[in-house]
Amino acid sequence: MHVPQSHPRYHSLITREKLAQAFRNGLVVPEGLIAHGRGECFDYILGEESRDFAIEAERAAVAMMILANHPVISVNGNAAGLVAEEISRLSEVLSAPLEVNIFHRSEERVKRIAEELEKHDAIVYCRGDAVIEGLESARRIVDRRGIYRADVVLVPLEDGDRCEILKRNGKRVIAIDLNPLSRTSRMADVTIVDNITRAVPNMIEFAKEMKDYGMEELEKIVLRYDNREILRRAIKAIIEYLESRSGEL
Ligand code: ATP
Ligand code: MG
Repeated sequence: MHVPQSHPRYHSLITREKLAQAFRNGLVVPEGLIAHGRGECFDYILGEESRDFAIEAERAAVAMMILANHPVISVNGNAAGLVAEEISRLSEVLSAPLEVNIFHRSEERVKRIAEELEKHDAIVYCRGDAVIEGLESARRIVDRRGIYRADVVLVPLEDGDRCEILKRNGKRVIAIDLNPLSRTSRMADVTIVDNITRAVPNMIEFAKEMKDYGMEELEKIVLRYDNREILRRAIKAIIEYLESRSGEL
């Protein structure tokens, strides 16, 4: 489908097209398309831009990952369908390997996602040779070299259950989730309320800049960060946006 650049919903339509193509290629499941719809709705009422609370969370997330001993980036079908190249670059600048971790698991889909990421020269773990205790879904199956031993995990588009279990297993969790009300958002140590299509490119830029920061400076950024305050600001931003729109009528 050709989407003219002048279309007012250009970015949103391009994103949908990318995801639909990823679905046809077997990277994304139908449930992933529905989950994206929920994200789009929140993006709409946040003004479809990276807001100050998202930028602050992205910077704290990058600081936390630079400071980590074993940072890992978990990738599901939607993340691979939307930002395979960008997430591979982020992995490279942060020296944080990627791990394929999906809810609706099949060996075929794991393989396809891994291949998509490897096209962009990423280091991809997907052996599925270890299990995270306390979780019933297929997301419990992890790689011994990756999430299993990670101290910080970036989980874009996560579900609340796994976020909770990762935390119970002593890991720090960074979520990218446009819904500031979700269990994932409330569970994570750092919640990036931003579209993954903007969050990952932003994080690449911050990572390039912050790699040269001293340890103390990075630690200060992490210590100062308050996730509850960030979520409060995100919810308030939605209220204010809706109020301003209703005022225009
Ligand atoms: P929870 O179990 O944490 O309450 P949920 O059931 O609301 O989560 P899921 O369907 O498990 O949500 O996961 C999808 C989440 O990902 C949604 O909260 C949605 O807002 C978010 N999401 C979908 N697409 C994007 C995107 N492109 N960028 C950022 N977030 C997105
Ligand atoms: Mg859920």
